[in-house]
Amino acid sequence: MHAKQQSIIAIAALTTKGDLPQLQRELNTGLDSGLTINEIKEVMVHLTAYNGFPRSLQGLNTFIAVLEERKAKGIKDKLGREATPVKNTTGKYEQGKRVLETLTGQAEREPKTGYAAFAPVIDTFLKEHLFADIFGRDVLTYTEREFATLSALITLGGVEPMMRGHMNIVMHLGVTEAELQQMLSLLEAKLGKAAADAGRRVLSTVKSTAVQPGSRVTSGNDGLFAKGVQAPANNFTGTAWVNMVVQAQDGLNCSIGTVTFEPGARTAWHRHPGGQILLVTEGVGYYQEKGQPIRIMQKGDVMKCLPGTEHWHGASPDSQVSHIAIGPNTDKGGAVWLQKVTDSEYKSYKKQDKYADH
Ligand code: MN
Repeated sequence: MHAKQQSIIAIAALTTKGDLPQLQRELNTGLDSGLTINEIKEVMVHLTAYNGFPRSLQGLNTFIAVLEERKAKGIKDKLGREATPVKNTTGKYEQGKRVLETLTGQAEREPKTGYAAFAPVIDTFLKEHLFADIFGRDVLTYTEREFATLSALITLGGVEPMMRGHMNIVMHLGVTEAELQQMLSLLEAKLGKAAADAGRRVLSTVKSTAVQPGSRVTSGNDGLFAKGVQAPANNFTGTAWVNMVVQAQDGLNCSIGTVTFEPGARTAWHRHPGGQILLVTEGVGYYQEKGQPIRIMQKGDVMKCLPGTEHWHGASPDSQVSHIAIGPNTDKGGAVWLQKVTDSEYKSYKKQDKYADH
């Protein structure tokens, strides 16, 4: 975990706890480790959604004092960039819903249940204020925001379902279980063992669904890369294998994985907030974007899928297919999974389409 991420976690915990003397020290550490003034401000703004305005305002007041003291000592801190104004094309509720779907990788389902059905206005505030207004500000990445959130939740205590939800989100964003363990050790030093142990109990119930890099589970690898591990059944139909060779947290703002589909296997409908490029390395498969006919993809083809385009890909009924999937712009979030591709959708391929495509 980077020093910057560690500082965000510590600053979030101490702001939420209201431990201002320790926060003061941690703000100095954060600035020294490369956080900009605007990034730290943004952590405090973000936290209003979790710890309320009073704690955040106290945090900001402490930060002002720290900056003045450093200035008096002749330290020049970096202001950093401001948030890019958010373009609002779909309405705030829809925009917030999209952000939440990107974070969880799951489509938001209707009708609403639980608290959202009981008090619809809080669902509106969550989507519009938290996920559109706050998460929409690009001063911090989604992963940085989620580290701040989890840290605040662990500090608050007694909010296990929310902790679990956000642990699932950070893992979907590419954070590993080992990094979460590291976060909990860090928080143990700031908050004590009881708070960290409560987080550890929740973490033990969260199963990582991320495919870890370098997994070499299968034999019979006659391709360039190992076939990897079996793709999760909730997002795939039939048998497919995934080997993630580059992951979001590798710091290249991109992910690369190989996917091998047995005949008839395919992904569910989904979209990639950062887009996707498929390099077909073996076999014959299908590729379809919403509202378009199924296209054949075969060895040597390159399929370019623009950000946010709903689509699916997989093998043809009679042949397996392998492709290298490149996910650019992973800072925009991981795949958002939608409904399965039905048999009738899958069988809608018409031979003549093949010639129209090439
Ligand atoms: Mn895709």
